[in-house]
Amino acid sequence: MREKLFVGNWKMHFTLREAKAYFEKFLTLQSKNPLSNRIIGVAPPFTALFYVKSLLKATYIKLVAQNAHFAEKGAFTGEISPVMLKEIGVEYVILGHSERRHLLGEEDEFISKKVTSVYNIGLKPILCVGETLEEREEGETLERVSSQVKIGLQGLKSLQPQNLVIAYEPVWAIGTGRNATPEQAEEVQSFIRKVLEELYGKETALEIPILYGGSVTPENVGELMQMPNVDGVLVGGASLDPEKFYKICSIEV
Ligand code: PEP
Repeated sequence: MREKLFVGNWKMHFTLREAKAYFEKFLTLQSKNPLSNRIIGVAPPFTALFYVKSLLKATYIKLVAQNAHFAEKGAFTGEISPVMLKEIGVEYVILGHSERRHLLGEEDEFISKKVTSVYNIGLKPILCVGETLEEREEGETLERVSSQVKIGLQGLKSLQPQNLVIAYEPVWAIGTGRNATPEQAEEVQSFIRKVLEELYGKETALEIPILYGGSVTPENVGELMQMPNVDGVLVGGASLDPEKFYKICSIEV
């Protein structure tokens, strides 16, 4: 049985004071109606990670980092090592997010080194893949996603499926208010599952959670989650509002 995951990506939002107010609200909501049968994760900016860990101490909410470097330590000014993230209680790391690919020039080979390092250190990579609008219009979606998955995972020869997550995030849907339809998400996500099967065999492929991300809201999450290969969601904008994120996380699974 694949895990259902709901991950909020705060991006570059929230000071410590704002993070505290956020969880006061979110934890009050969930104390009235605890959410079981699912994993909920939150990815604050680096400056708030350690503090948020302390706020979440007595909860089931997982700490997620938005990025990591591949090296364990060294002369990499401005970077954060996966060892440092593990030390403070991070469990998942978002890698290959489209904003890092497109705004900061991260490429598949570089992302692959991070995925390998993060996985080997004992954290769970959330590898983000997805096509641009132009690629979709040119009919290149599946080819693009396939190469992102294959190169991204090329360093992981054997795999514990519960220690890896893939997130399909069409670039044209991120932060645009234009989500993929459930059918579009399912088409690509079932294809990703086939690629995973090629790489690791059917049994393993069936255990790897594949999330959808791109303008997820409390209104559209229900129909997306009905798709057989949508195992959860990666949420940007709507995760900044604790009530909306709580509504998204509390969908029936
Ligand atoms: C994201 O940042 O991963 C994302 C999906 O953003 P949004 O939900 O705002 O589209």
